[in-house]
Amino acid sequence: MPHHRMKRQQTTRHQITQQLLSWYDENKRDLPWRGTDDPYLVWVSEIILQQTRVSQGWDYYVRFIRRFPNVASLANANEEEVLKLWQGLGYYSRARNMHAAAKDIVSRFNGKFPTSHTDILSLKGIGEYTAAAISSIAFNEPHVAVDGNVLRVIARLFEVEEPVQSTKGKRIVKELTKELLPEERPGAFNQAIMDLGSLICIPRQPRCGDCPLANSCMVYATGRTEELPIRIKKKKTRRRYFTYLHIRQNGNTYIRRRTDNDIWRNLYEFPLIETDKPIEIEELLQNDEYNQLFRETTLLAIDGPFTYKHQLTHQQIHANFYRLTMEKGAVHAFMDQYKQIVEEEIERYPISRLMHKYIETNSNE
Ligand code: SF4
Repeated sequence: MPHHRMKRQQTTRHQITQQLLSWYDENKRDLPWRGTDDPYLVWVSEIILQQTRVSQGWDYYVRFIRRFPNVASLANANEEEVLKLWQGLGYYSRARNMHAAAKDIVSRFNGKFPTSHTDILSLKGIGEYTAAAISSIAFNEPHVAVDGNVLRVIARLFEVEEPVQSTKGKRIVKELTKELLPEERPGAFNQAIMDLGSLICIPRQPRCGDCPLANSCMVYATGRTEELPIRIKKKKTRRRYFTYLHIRQNGNTYIRRRTDNDIWRNLYEFPLIETDKPIEIEELLQNDEYNQLFRETTLLAIDGPFTYKHQLTHQQIHANFYRLTMEKGAVHAFMDQYKQIVEEEIERYPISRLMHKYIETNSNE
């Protein structure tokens, strides 16, 4: 690169950073976790926001830190309570990992949130992005936190032609972002790009007219704002067919905890039959698993199906719920596999959003 051009770019980069920070100071979002440098609070907010929109995460964050205001209180909680507070947010491994990491902080770091980037990175559920966010926001360390917003903004600003989800694309964006990172306010800088990405440089139809960086933005100059960032095709969605059996017996029902290495691990649900294609009630009544469950049992009525489609990241769940009314006091083949509970108390257990949807809309009819 000719020397004069490099020099011009360096000045421009410094200007970009300054423009971004002044924009941030005036326009930053007023969020409940803003203005704190408590690493625990930064951590909780970052984990909640990983796969959740701000509008949805807000209340969860407030409730979570009210119940668990610091590492010790989270470490001492039982897992079911943590999952219960998380219910509805999805991606429950986030909550489980945080819980495990809190215990780890107590045992390895005497309950004090670690300050070094390497130690932070060693905690369960904390990857490059979260470690960088915590280090920069809570400890003012110069690390760039590259999330989806940053990938988009930087790819547009510097016209990055590589797909941003690829390893190479991410590396290019990270290097470019590092060049913009100011030594004195790394935390503000990271949050500034994220805010710019969620308020101005939005995925579709970015609001370039309001953008503080429009003067230096390469895609704005070339009119390619909608073409970048380049995305790679998404992984194919797997379809799964679930039949849930909501048993009603004299005010009681039956649930089981999911223990396999699958979605919703450790959450509770009704007896479930999974099939590789959709089944109608006639097929259900012929199904082996179904018949094993209800051997020796007198069914008084069967209602349904109540049908729900539930979308997860790479899976689409097609669920049919049936409501089965059973004789009081009958002996059941499934007693040992399932937990009998008072039906109304089901909401005390951590359950998936799908189960929750069904219970809210249908179970009391
Ligand atoms: S000018 Fe437009 S495309 Fe460029 S960074 Fe700003 S909002 Fe994004």
